[in-house]
Amino acid sequence: MSAINDLYQQVILDHNRSPHNFRTMPDATRSVEGFNPLCGDHYTIFLKMNGDVISDVSFEGAGCAISKASASVMSSVIKGKTREEAEKLFHEFRDLVTGTRAAGDGADLGKLAAFSGVSEFPARVKCAILAWHTLHAALTTEDAKVSTE
Ligand code: ZN
Repeated sequence: MSAINDLYQQVILDHNRSPHNFRTMPDATRSVEGFNPLCGDHYTIFLKMNGDVISDVSFEGAGCAISKASASVMSSVIKGKTREEAEKLFHEFRDLVTGTRAAGDGADLGKLAAFSGVSEFPARVKCAILAWHTLHAALTTEDAKVSTE
């Protein structure tokens, strides 16, 4: 395993051990539940919208290390972003973990690049993308529940 992969692995381990924004949000303006039946990952994403800006984000739930780390990194990078910026990141992240694009190709994905290795493990792609799908639903639909199936 290369040094880069070790570094990426470390990002996932750290976020799984001490996830950021791992709490409920009683005054959330939107909350959506996401479920990945293949792995059993199950999270609720909470958003506080201030006009078009995501002023706060948090999540709670349980799942594997990849799904939890992904939700943690997602919550860190989208806080303070506009709906449009968050949607753009969702599409970039999806392309990254499905292998449609390589890490470092185009925009600087920062810590999101830690998940580029997931594209080599198709069964884990849904784990990595669950929080993002849930965020996408929270930003674009009125649905309160989404599933990766
Ligand atoms: Zn999982």
